[in-house]
Amino acid sequence: MPSRSSVTLADIEAARDRIAGKVVRTPVVPSRLLSELAGVPVHLKLEHRQTTGSFKLRGASNAVASLSPEEKRRGVVAASTGNHGRALAHAAKLEGIRAVICMSKLVPENKVSEIRRLGAEVHIVGKSQDDAQQEVERLVAHEGLLMLPPFDHMAVIAGQGTIGLEMLEEVPETATVAVPVSGGGLAAGIATAVKALKPSIKVIGISMARGAAMRASFDAGRPVAVEELPTLADSLGGGIGLDNRLTFAICRDLLDDIVLLSEDEIAAGINHAYETEREIVEGAGAVGMAAVLAGKIETSGPLLLLLSGRNIDMGLHRNIVCGTWRDGQEAAA
Ligand SMILES: *Cc1c(COP(=O)(O)O)cnc(C)c1O
Repeated sequence: MPSRSSVTLADIEAARDRIAGKVVRTPVVPSRLLSELAGVPVHLKLEHRQTTGSFKLRGASNAVASLSPEEKRRGVVAASTGNHGRALAHAAKLEGIRAVICMSKLVPENKVSEIRRLGAEVHIVGKSQDDAQQEVERLVAHEGLLMLPPFDHMAVIAGQGTIGLEMLEEVPETATVAVPVSGGGLAAGIATAVKALKPSIKVIGISMARGAAMRASFDAGRPVAVEELPTLADSLGGGIGLDNRLTFAICRDLLDDIVLLSEDEIAAGINHAYETEREIVEGAGAVGMAAVLAGKIETSGPLLLLLSGRNIDMGLHRNIVCGTWRDGQEAAA
């Protein structure tokens, strides 16, 4: 696989077989209120109910299961305190292999203990994400561990693409799919799957206006860095990598648009999920609903939105649904 520069439908179908039984096939449900607002049927894929609370388990499970016996003996390492770290910890434990997650001293204790509970070793090093990344490189060099990145990796993209297969099985008449975009592994996988099966379908990416690296890279015509700012959609933070190998080109070729949202619009999406759909989602998981509420998605046919994750600080969530949240507070939550 590594010599190819793109992911195919066959890779995604193989991923589905490889991760069957290791991930949940999440439900798709209609949203009456959003359908009324959009004027077309709107469906929600409830992927925030995935084990570990996000879709990242699909990519991590496929990547871990694709390792050779020799690589499995060596184990895997990553520097993520978020959904990728959780997913990798869980996938490695299920596969019976060693996982090390590196993080800085500034990471809150609840995140550390959660990753440990999922079965990974935690290495706490330094005071920044860069320090944690250096520890990853040290473990790769000295202990032979394999680094598994969160998005720019063939097996990770193929794993996320399995969502696209399920979407078209559940709602074959879908005209437009809307998915959150950060590094682009999710969007690249889903777009590859759905466009291979149904070329007329449109795939819209959604990001927060505050620090949308993929959109800035589209506009520049090459991967660029953007300033990282606090946002309710914290799982969408971070760059796409200046040396991006896969996701930039796939997203540039397959996404029909990338829509950007304000913090207030994202908060409205989280609130809608809770009040109307009765679902708890994190900011990144709410952007599809937020884009419909804001009138930012145009489609003439059935629309399918991906709810990608639910790992939100519950104090912050409470403030949002009680109406006491104000933009600028997310860092203090
Ligand atoms: C990682 C993540 C995303 C974005 O996925 P990319 O593959 O980086 O574009 C969206 N939502 C949630 C909840 C995530 O954890």
